Amino acid sequence: MWQIGSVFFVAALSNVRSWPFDSISFDDSDDGVVMPDLSYLGERIFRKPSLETGRLLENWDHTSEMNPEEMGEYAEGDIVFPKTARNGLVTESARWPNGEVPYQIDGFFDSDSLGNIKKAISIYHKYTCLKFRKRTASDNDYISIVNSNTGCWSSVGRIGGKQEVNLQSPSCVTRVGTPIHELMHAVGFLHEQNRYERDDYVTIAWQNIRSGHENNFDKADDAKTTGYGVPYDFRSVMHYSGKAFSVNGKPTIIPKDSSKAEKMGQREGFSKGDLTKINKMYNCPEKTDEVTGNNNNIPDSNNNASENKENNSNPLVEAAQGFLGWLFHKK
Ligand SMILES: [Zn+2]
Repeated sequence: MWQIGSVFFVAALSNVRSWPFDSISFDDSDDGVVMPDLSYLGERIFRKPSLETGRLLENWDHTSEMNPEEMGEYAEGDIVFPKTARNGLVTESARWPNGEVPYQIDGFFDSDSLGNIKKAISIYHKYTCLKFRKRTASDNDYISIVNSNTGCWSSVGRIGGKQEVNLQSPSCVTRVGTPIHELMHAVGFLHEQNRYERDDYVTIAWQNIRSGHENNFDKADDAKTTGYGVPYDFRSVMHYSGKAFSVNGKPTIIPKDSSKAEKMGQREGFSKGDLTKINKMYNCPEKTDEVTGNNNNIPDSNNNASENKENNSNPLVEAAQGFLGWLFHKK
């Protein structure tokens, strides 16, 4: 259903009018091989982990106005494909069959970091039908969660074989939202603010973007993108923060509706729209019935607000926690 036509659709990066945005649709005409066309990302898609990214992230803390994954020198900040990909820049990607995502944690994470990774996975399990399960010897395609490289990054969708999700610690794992974000790339989604129709919702302040990073704001090709009926979503965990890649501390993304500004770039958890998109991509039964309210309200990842002490200084978190009482029908 979400394969439209016979070409590839990159959804997450941008999106489509009636199909707003961010998932990738795939062409699986070639005996199950699925290939999203991400060629518009150019050579950056093969960029090697950089020392500069590591340095920036070492200086990052949770009070930053940017998210750690927005500090990488990769395509759109945090998208990486292995150089072994076939056919030049057109790389293979795919959904995970039956929504099963074999993974193993190969990095050495401290217990807090590991806790946030596992919490991210448990949130996927609670709100989607995706099944992250420990990789077995018979799983050729799997995610390896590491922290041996610089940056927070993932490739997009299943690319075949081992694929890494790098979470430089502690910066990428101080909040559950960044593991959620990177895993959402790994299951097939790109960034929200690069939906092709984003100019209807935000203004990109090009003059404030760090030189050389303008491509991070490229809109996806609408012919290659698709969405799942979810309107442009400022609350998406895949949306950049307002000052992503800013050279001067001024906003790079300005909502046309100023009331949306504070909602952009949250990394506390999925938005309802995120969940709808994942569940449609994977043909999951909608599991967000327990989430009420409008699309702008996030099902906060911290179902137990007391678990979130670390981020209490963040007004976003406080607002999100304030919604918890009526957002959730606790099981
Ligand atoms: Zn990202």
